[in-house]
Amino acid sequence: MESVNKNLQSINQRIKAAAHRSGRTPDSVKLVAVTKQAPLEKIMAAVECGQHLFGENFVQEANDKINRVSLAAAGKTISWHFIGHLQSNKARQAAELFRIIETVDRLKLARLLNKHLATLGRGISVLVQVNIGREKQKSGIAPEECTEFIGQLRQFEHLEIAGLMAMPPFSADPEMTRPYFKSMRLLATELVDRGVLPGRVELSMGMSGDFEVAIEEGATMVRLGTAVFGART
Ligand SMILES: *Cc1c(COP(=O)(O)O)cnc(C)c1O
Repeated sequence: MESVNKNLQSINQRIKAAAHRSGRTPDSVKLVAVTKQAPLEKIMAAVECGQHLFGENFVQEANDKINRVSLAAAGKTISWHFIGHLQSNKARQAAELFRIIETVDRLKLARLLNKHLATLGRGISVLVQVNIGREKQKSGIAPEECTEFIGQLRQFEHLEIAGLMAMPPFSADPEMTRPYFKSMRLLATELVDRGVLPGRVELSMGMSGDFEVAIEEGATMVRLGTAVFGART
């Protein structure tokens, strides 16, 4: 899987350069390789190249992949982030499979995750999904409702509130997305300043088409599928 190797090398270079432009060190930005529809061989090729963070949108698909990848990658530490819309009836399985749930967008879901984690006797990190473009068709908390929502999440002792995640309105021109990334950074800064979020806050934003702009605006996690594994069919 020569291509995955090449892709990762070039992406890591671009991440490094963008981090540098934003006055940060490259290790302040984590690459989450998004595996939706990616075949196992390609995921394993990424593991061979040292990639250890992966993101999945579907619990069912993830269950199979995570088991197969951890078997094949014996001995290596690999973490999975859930990045899709999480249905309440999949909360239990998600709590078992993932290290971070990036898309917590409602109280009911948080309550279910917390309940299942209590049974499992462990905690996980969560990000609050923010609907930064206020799009009707997208999930996420409205920016002005984040303070209250995060306040309510505090009651769930098995959830560590690690930061925010967003998927801004799509545009083919990454510069059109920059204002949304900037709004996310300002929102995160404000929440940290007011003590709503912890000092070291994660900002998951930026995909294959716009991750460099996202990093320039403060992303600490970028979620890349196509750029790593090629176009999805
Ligand atoms: C598919 C997906 C990505 C990756 O998209 P690419 O454009 O292929 O990089 C990132 N985040 C979420 C939430 C996704 O669903």
